[in-house]
Amino acid sequence: MALKKKEIALARGTEGVDPKARVAVLAYHKVGRPSASASVTWYYISEEIFERQLHWIAESGWEVIDAARFLQGLDDPGSLPDRSVLLTFDDGYQSILHCALPYLNSFGFPAIIFVPTGLVGDVSRFDEKTREPMEPICSWDELRELQRGGVSVESHGVSHCHFSEVDRARLVFELESSRRAIIKELGANSVMLAFPYGDAGSGYPETGRALVEAGYRCAFLYGGGAQSFPISDPYRIARIPMGPDIELEQILTSPSVAGKV
Ligand SMILES: [Zn+2]
Repeated sequence: MALKKKEIALARGTEGVDPKARVAVLAYHKVGRPSASASVTWYYISEEIFERQLHWIAESGWEVIDAARFLQGLDDPGSLPDRSVLLTFDDGYQSILHCALPYLNSFGFPAIIFVPTGLVGDVSRFDEKTREPMEPICSWDELRELQRGGVSVESHGVSHCHFSEVDRARLVFELESSRRAIIKELGANSVMLAFPYGDAGSGYPETGRALVEAGYRCAFLYGGGAQSFPISDPYRIARIPMGPDIELEQILTSPSVAGKV
């Protein structure tokens, strides 16, 4: 008898199940179309594709967890569902509020948005000299709206700089000042950070120490696949870069990713 698509996915996902919890952290940037008459790049995901991806997750047996549950899982991996998905969005674009949030809410999915606090209410100036269109970044009020909609606001540094290109004093500033701003403006204890450009700094062990000293509990890279918990280094957690051509079904049901990583 031919199995339905969903049954195949579930069957493959449980193949060689790792007794430890498995976690897939998805890293999105922009949802919808550019706000100006610019061309769409890989970092944009249409609403249609975004909805399709969320729909697949909802049907797949993978469970979307929130920031608090993820943090609990770092200390107590047994508390996580066997297949956990964390939805993350980098840079704090307004399109996440206007285009992504309605879909997240309709599926009842929590998420995390990583914001460069020095650019709140501004545009993505760090893309000025690239071919990536600059997009408006949420104001604090808009971030509060996201927060009310089930999205945790976390740090993406202050200025969206490459951590490997700054000295220690600047690194400490990027870590401490962004965290302080989120706590002050949103009353949330931000303890997660996504490295801008996925750049964890050149002297990595030092960055890890600086993160601990600044009060962070974990930090995310940009790249990699799903992973097993307990995780070897919570300050370098892999994330799956999400673009319009990423076939979640393929990634999350492939035994090499879902079962053995
Ligand atoms: Zn970024």
